[in-house]
Amino acid sequence: MATDPGTASPFSLAGRRAIVTGSTRGIGLAIARLLIAQGARVVISSENAEDTRRVAADLGMPGQVCDVTDAGALHDLVDCARRELGGLDILICNAGITGKPGPFAGIAMDDYDRVMALNLRSQVVLANLALPLLADAGGGAAVLVSSLAGLRGNLRINAYALAKAGNAQLARNLAVEWGPRRVRVNAVSPGFIATELSGPLLADEGFMQRRMAMTPLRRPGRPEEVAGAVAFLVSDAGAFVTGQNIVVDGGTLITDGS
Ligand code: NDP
Repeated sequence: MATDPGTASPFSLAGRRAIVTGSTRGIGLAIARLLIAQGARVVISSENAEDTRRVAADLGMPGQVCDVTDAGALHDLVDCARRELGGLDILICNAGITGKPGPFAGIAMDDYDRVMALNLRSQVVLANLALPLLADAGGGAAVLVSSLAGLRGNLRINAYALAKAGNAQLARNLAVEWGPRRVRVNAVSPGFIATELSGPLLADEGFMQRRMAMTPLRRPGRPEEVAGAVAFLVSDAGAFVTGQNIVVDGGTLITDGS
């Protein structure tokens, strides 16, 4: 669904229908809020029934409980968009977990499997269920939430980094696959953003000093600052951008440490 180029702001999402996974807190909630502020209707979702109900009610949007590792639940999530919103124009695959820190030597493979299933496999399954609806609507846009961790070598972040590198590659493949049907797919890679997920590192003074010293903006990001990039990518303002991985990190990636 495209806005009238003559009258509307290219950033408007008026009339668009969206799913945001993991939208009960953190970056997912900020994305849902901004899409709604721009005029979209959004299916709110997480694995926690009470949080999903509460946040959906607060925002006046439909809510659907969905553990993204459960293919049946992903199917129900897409059905909810079809039933409650009448279709789908925007897909945001945001839900993610970090897993246990440490090098690959000695990694617990059950943790590896869980991290890969939640961060990467779920995005493949959901994209395959949802992108046909975007194409049927005449075109649309998806954003896969990746991470700065997928763009650098790391001693502590193991399967998570691998899964996040996979998210960016998945965006490139899906962009090639779905572009001819007017569906754009991009990734967003946040750097250090203050949320529950990054809470343990936020509390680690030594880490924070090192990390902020190598971040030109010298501060952690806010969930809303990731949402801004996502809202651009799914709007008509981003209509010629596909297959990209937009890094939102205060400049951490581009410093040389000197
Ligand atoms: P939070 O932990 O604050 O929020 C995660 C959200 O995902 C919650 O709504 C949570 O809901 C949901 N979620 C977790 N597991 C599942 C599941 N199995 N099924 C469905 N929903 C689930 O994380 P952030 O907001 O920080 O992270 C969001 C995304 O951004 C993730 O993909 C993360 O990897 C990525 N990211 C975050 C960075 C950061 O610094 N914060 C940096 C780079 C990337 P529930 O409470 O129900 O589990």
